[in-house]
Amino acid sequence: MSSAADTVFTRIVRGEIPAQVVYEDEAVLAFLDISPLAPGHTLLIPKQAYATMADAPAETAAALGAALPRLVRAVQAATGAAGVNILQNNGRSAGQEVNHIHFHIIPRVEKDGLGYRWNPGSYASGEAEAMQARVVAALRA
Ligand code: 5GP
Repeated sequence: MSSAADTVFTRIVRGEIPAQVVYEDEAVLAFLDISPLAPGHTLLIPKQAYATMADAPAETAAALGAALPRLVRAVQAATGAAGVNILQNNGRSAGQEVNHIHFHIIPRVEKDGLGYRWNPGSYASGEAEAMQARVVAALRA
């Protein structure tokens, strides 16, 4: 887990720097990404700063989850996108650059060329069960 420093997103929440805000309620804010992967690429953040999902209280996660479906529908309606990717990076190794939880809502159309690397692996015999046991134990700890 890591702590959320003052980031560009906390400055957006405070209204200190401009953003194209598309949705706001008491807990969350959504605005257009300044460097969109596709037109309409939107970021959804909690107003309260937490660096990663591992740091977030359940209420914060719930507020983000509650806003997502409506926001996805609006982004799709506004862009005409047939689908969206919802991407949420946690930690530098996962590509997170801004240490304030954010969901990317990325409009997708067929053959848009965005793509991403998805090289599936596999478990050797017994490895999946061992991994299952480790995650279950961590959840109980
Ligand atoms: P990450 O790599 O942390 O998952 O994504 C951070 C995102 O924040 C990037 O897509 C980047 O374009 C966006 N971003 C960074 N600074 C600003 C900003 O000042 N305003 C807006 N609207 N988006 C930003």
